[in-house]
Amino acid sequence: MLTKNPFNFDYSYLSLPDKFYSLTKASSLTAPNLYILNSQLCDDVNIPPQEFKNWLPFIGNENMALQSFSQAYAGHQFGHFTLLGDGRAVVLGEHITNNNRFDIQIKGSGRTPYSRGGDGKATLKAMLREYIISESMFYLRIPTSRSLCVIKTGQTVHRETAHTGAALLRVMKSHIRVGTFEYAARFGKNDDVRALLHYTINRLYPAIVHDENPALCLLNTVIENQIELVTHWMRVGFIHGVMNTDNTAISGETFDYGPCAFMNIYNPNTVFSSIDYNGRYAFGNQYKIIAWNLVRFAESLLPVLDPNLKKSVELAQTALDRFEEIWREKYYTVMLKKIGIDCNNPELYFLVDELLSLMKTQKMDYTNTFCDLSNSINDEEVQHTNPTMKLWLEKWKNHIEHSSSTTHAKKVMQQNNPVIIPRNHLVEQALDDAIIGDLTLFESLLDALSQTYQYEHKRLEYMKSSNLAFEQSYQTFCGT
Ligand code: AMP
Ligand code: MG
Repeated sequence: MLTKNPFNFDYSYLSLPDKFYSLTKASSLTAPNLYILNSQLCDDVNIPPQEFKNWLPFIGNENMALQSFSQAYAGHQFGHFTLLGDGRAVVLGEHITNNNRFDIQIKGSGRTPYSRGGDGKATLKAMLREYIISESMFYLRIPTSRSLCVIKTGQTVHRETAHTGAALLRVMKSHIRVGTFEYAARFGKNDDVRALLHYTINRLYPAIVHDENPALCLLNTVIENQIELVTHWMRVGFIHGVMNTDNTAISGETFDYGPCAFMNIYNPNTVFSSIDYNGRYAFGNQYKIIAWNLVRFAESLLPVLDPNLKKSVELAQTALDRFEEIWREKYYTVMLKKIGIDCNNPELYFLVDELLSLMKTQKMDYTNTFCDLSNSINDEEVQHTNPTMKLWLEKWKNHIEHSSSTTHAKKVMQQNNPVIIPRNHLVEQALDDAIIGDLTLFESLLDALSQTYQYEHKRLEYMKSSNLAFEQSYQTFCGT
């Protein structure tokens, strides 16, 4: 007899035409061993931890009463169109709780019909990395997939060398991507795009179901929520690293934590990904890339925007033409809050631009600079060794004192400037310890990250930038 399933599973995705998925099992998980469990997330999404632990050993069991599946999709990778699909992921089901629906997806559980040349597996280090960074994004109050647990598979994964195999259980509102729409538009009929459109709207944006033109409304909604998302990446110094269209979620959640990393020294050209030779996904390029991805999304909606193609193109173009204006509005709203100004006044944008330019030339730490500003706003006299910086500080403080109060500005800054980010050198150290069984640093870093806006609780050991040489040579990797 099988143990009780801790999830409340449904399978609405299987109502789509069958070209959108393949029925698959987490078949390589014959001897799963729980490595780390996110008990807070268990609470948040109503998964009884003990029931989950009892059920886990059966996850790869062929006879499990699951209609699990892998999703078909395509995508532009580094600008090139490719047919993809979940090559190492299986959606175990859609967990329903308190009127919310979450995909419970396992990543690293073996080959699927979309694996192409890949082995369908993942390494323990890569899965623990996704766990800590995605949870950190959650604590930074940025929409994101979350990590329920990491499991050791008991298998060896061969990359350049042999690694411990692992799988990650990912929780996300939905894994529908820009690439899912590209797949429907390129390989399906108009009815397939329409089916995906209706499914997506019903699932993610039910408020627009009865809109006069739901496809246009979805396009506008996704333009807004992707811009919003990327402005928050800019707020905390996050570099996604692989903003391919298959990694752009229609739900507006950050996901696919492969080569991502946080920037320490401010420089918009910062790139960590080992394969991003031309800096396509550099920190300061992220808004251009999201604009590009949204054009791909709009193209894939052309069959359903209007029965007349010419009219569809006009509608799509008009929606996309608003990108710059929305970006500018949302970006400066977020960035002004970082310097304590919570109204969007275009006449003050120069304060943000000048500060960033100074930070770049003086190679200042992104996170710590904004924290220091938050801390020093009440100081009587503006002190700084650099005369240009002193001048900026005087202008800024002068503005704050005349327009609001330093107390209010400080509050706004402390709500928007994190104190602790996952510093690359600490993440690496925590992961290197964790894969040999010592989770002390991993857990204490996670705990510090969970209190990232707690100014009164200083943890200096997690706030230091690593040395410049480390940062300049640091590299991250896709799909490990
Ligand atoms: P990503 O760079 O993680 O977005 O992955 C791009 C595509 O490659 C997706 O379709 C993945 O499912 C697939 N993929 C990544 N790693 C593997 C692997 N080890 N085996 C099979 N497919 C993989
Ligand atoms: Mg991906």
